[in-house]
Amino acid sequence: MKALVLTDYKKMEYIDAETPEFGPNEVLIRVKSCGICGSDIHGYDGSTGRRRPPVIMGHEASGIIEKVGSNVRNWNIGDRVTFDSTIYCNECESCRRGYVNLCTNRKVIGVSCEDYRQNGAFAEYIAVPQHILYKLPENVTFDQAAMIEPLSVAFHAANMAADHPIGASAAVVGCGKIGMLLIQTLRMFGFGTIIAVKRSSNQQELIKELGADFFLCTSDDDVQEKVRQITNGQGVDYIFEAAGSETTVNLSIEICKRNGKIILVGNSAPKVSVPLQAIVTKQLHIAGSCASAGEYPACLDAIARNLINVDLLIGNRAPLSDGAYWFDKLYTNHENNLKVILNP
Ligand SMILES: [Zn+2]
Ligand SMILES: [Zn+2]
Repeated sequence: MKALVLTDYKKMEYIDAETPEFGPNEVLIRVKSCGICGSDIHGYDGSTGRRRPPVIMGHEASGIIEKVGSNVRNWNIGDRVTFDSTIYCNECESCRRGYVNLCTNRKVIGVSCEDYRQNGAFAEYIAVPQHILYKLPENVTFDQAAMIEPLSVAFHAANMAADHPIGASAAVVGCGKIGMLLIQTLRMFGFGTIIAVKRSSNQQELIKELGADFFLCTSDDDVQEKVRQITNGQGVDYIFEAAGSETTVNLSIEICKRNGKIILVGNSAPKVSVPLQAIVTKQLHIAGSCASAGEYPACLDAIARNLINVDLLIGNRAPLSDGAYWFDKLYTNHENNLKVILNP
């Protein structure tokens, strides 16, 4: 088969690769669409240590079942499917409690790190275990289905705030693709005023179209004051932090209402320092949100019902053979890009 292989750091080649073997509990999928994730771009130069060459990246994918293993019962050749980006074991303590995102044996598709190498979907074929498959509704396209993985991250974060009263205020701090998907998700989840906070003023129109009532720039020095005005001096009920830097985490703490909740999704900085006394005296509830755990069917349903429009976030579609060009382009200019989807 043909595959887009990271043969060396910052070097992608469209070359022949072995068609993957598949076990009795696995299916072989003919890949139709696969999105380029920010984590692929960050791994491309070796800085994260999670894309050690040679590896086929790609974990935001969809396709058609081509072959099924001997123990596969509920899936058939020709089924249109997407799959979880994480292969969880279904046996460890976390899995048994439903926290499959926290599986102690988890392997992320398209990742090669110190512990494992799991080839991904920038290829004509990929083999995946049947327990991570999801069937596509008829009216959901393969390209839309390639957006399910990032959307599921937004849904999981919103589920962490499932205790919100209808109409509660929310702020999304950091408006990359996850932040933008979060804005649409929070609108659907019944939040009231939604404030988007972004580093630059680009994409302001799109962000408002996605459902934000207010757009603020982190570079404006009066961000806190503007949030105070919008929220009648109270601060925001729920903050979704989707950037993961010291500045944005601290801003989130400042603009959060007393007894409010901050869901941390972004984690680009491994460590940040935070104002302990503000967290304690405002009695803030701070929680991390990792990947997703069972949100795929709800995401597929929301796209099928047109409650979430992922098409607005797809910037470019290109053949997989052009993948090297798009990796280089996203790497050299990773601000304000919409999703790039590669089609084998
Ligand atoms: Zn991703
Ligand atoms: Zn597990």
